[in-house]
Amino acid sequence: MSNLDPHPDEVDLVDEPVAPDRGAPGPLAGRRVALGQGTEVRRYLPTRRRATVGAWCFMDAYGPDDVSGGPGMRVGPHPHTGLQTATWLQAGAVVHHDSLGNVGTIEPGQLNLMTAGSGVAHAEVSGTPHPRWLSGVQLWVALPAGARRVPPAVAHHPDLGRADLGPVTATVLVGELGGARSPAAVYSALVGAELAVGSGRAGVPLDPGFEHAALVLSGQVRLGDRPAGAGDAWYLGRGERRLVVEGDPSGVVLLLGGEPFTDPLVMWWNFVGGSDEEVRAAREDWEAGRRFGEVAGPGAGERMTAPPLPPGRLVVRR
Ligand code: MN
Repeated sequence: MSNLDPHPDEVDLVDEPVAPDRGAPGPLAGRRVALGQGTEVRRYLPTRRRATVGAWCFMDAYGPDDVSGGPGMRVGPHPHTGLQTATWLQAGAVVHHDSLGNVGTIEPGQLNLMTAGSGVAHAEVSGTPHPRWLSGVQLWVALPAGARRVPPAVAHHPDLGRADLGPVTATVLVGELGGARSPAAVYSALVGAELAVGSGRAGVPLDPGFEHAALVLSGQVRLGDRPAGAGDAWYLGRGERRLVVEGDPSGVVLLLGGEPFTDPLVMWWNFVGGSDEEVRAAREDWEAGRRFGEVAGPGAGERMTAPPLPPGRLVVRR
């Protein structure tokens, strides 16, 4: 997935008032963003007020969409730097093509984790034919300064650990939860898990050194004392040891968390960098056909052009 906004903001705008307490729990309002033709996503991160939850720096959710009458997802070749992309589906299938030569299908329950590091390009498209329904999340993890330029890598994890937490079953995408650990390689203290709520009430153990957020993917649930339905997201704050979850048996919640991210961070379009210069250089290299390589085809779609940079320097968030 790509940020297709033709005029993407850098994350922290200079005229944006600073939230009185970034650590205070509260709703994460999703805004609707058009992705190409016919696909709309709900974007929860970044917002002008909050760029990250742990190192999670981008959270889009889409669907369920009936894609039987159209091409489905068409996100053509585009570059990334300085981050990892995590693709996680609830329904349907997406074909991933990348500039390391990989082509593979991602299905529900399988984590596709691409480490962009110094630079990689990929495309995510529906196959022909494809399943009727498409639903999923696209997440980015900012790499810390010491790992921002690691060599690119792509990993597909079809078998993830599960933790039985009473009525809640947690599938651990990243990090560790309730004794289950993900095989996915990450570069900061981080957790990501999908919670199938079941009937009843369960305490989900949290790392008190982390901040957390939760997004309801389906059903009606309670997150602590907050009622929440499909599409609702909450920033849960820092220092919590437990999240009490209850709901109907169709309830599914995505839990994300990590140590608060404190390294210099510039996010613009599909790039994460540590400075204005780094992001400008990445854009120039993509436009000049350098660094990122060719996305394996056929069927990857049309190569994207980087949007124009905004006037002035990109703002570094610390
Ligand atoms: Mn992408």
